[in-house]
Amino acid sequence: MSDSCRGPFNLLKTYVNRPTLVWGNNNALNLLTLDLEDWFHICQVEHLLPRKDWDRLPSTVVADTQKFLGLLQRSGYRATFFVLGYVADRYPDLIRRIHHMGHEIAYHGWDHELVYDLTPHEFHRILRKGIKCIEALTGKRPIGFRAPQWSINDRSIWALEILAEEGFVYDSSMAPVRFIGNEAYPRIPHLVSTPAGGIWELPPLTLNTSMGNYPAGGGWGLRFLPYLILKQAVRRMNRQHIPALFYFHPREFSRRRSVAGLPAAKKFVLHAGIWGSEAQLLRLLTDFHFTSLEQYLNGGLDYETSPP
Ligand SMILES: [Zn+2]
Repeated sequence: MSDSCRGPFNLLKTYVNRPTLVWGNNNALNLLTLDLEDWFHICQVEHLLPRKDWDRLPSTVVADTQKFLGLLQRSGYRATFFVLGYVADRYPDLIRRIHHMGHEIAYHGWDHELVYDLTPHEFHRILRKGIKCIEALTGKRPIGFRAPQWSINDRSIWALEILAEEGFVYDSSMAPVRFIGNEAYPRIPHLVSTPAGGIWELPPLTLNTSMGNYPAGGGWGLRFLPYLILKQAVRRMNRQHIPALFYFHPREFSRRRSVAGLPAAKKFVLHAGIWGSEAQLLRLLTDFHFTSLEQYLNGGLDYETSPP
């Protein structure tokens, strides 16, 4: 890795709006992603739920993911599943099944490591471990990466070059949101140049408000924003032929309560508003067209679902 990549460098070498399939009146494609991890893979609780205890915790990831797959199956759309290595290692059949259903398997780190806490060498090692695992399960090398908790930001921008070196085609780890990322980051898909080659950056849907950018595309948006606000945000993007990128977690569609030992604030983050998320997702899947990130970058040409 060159020294020039270690500090901030000009991210916006090339700005390209991808072609999108258009049926009738502005029915552009949108992007559906799931971070495939268990309920205890949340950040800032490492002191309460340390890595050494994970194997003893009651896992809900298989049941929760099956529920999400059931909701998705009704629509016929493809999605991208950013798989945690820890989950793939424990539940290989789940990953194979998702792959055989036609969804994309991408990578989300091994033990939910925050990229800005890693050295470049450690990041290389974690990427290679995940590539090997996913390739063994699906027969296909992953081309996409999402860092846990949007942890590629100004502190870890070097990671993009490493991703390009390891053959990743796209990244979806940089949030144009204050505190987590940087509001100056582009809010639409764009190609980033690094010394190791270009890599697409696919940011999550945000709402531009007077208080700053609000992360509307995640479970938080699904659970707390009125549907009309979400719908208008997607329409605004699609009118410009830009896809809205959504990112969810299996636990956000489950009413299970495996949160013993967590403080009230974390329980709130995990479960508040969950009663409405299933209905909100189904409305999105009815009103808009979705595909995986891989298919989007392929121009959506392999898109299988017929337009309504
Ligand atoms: Zn995660």
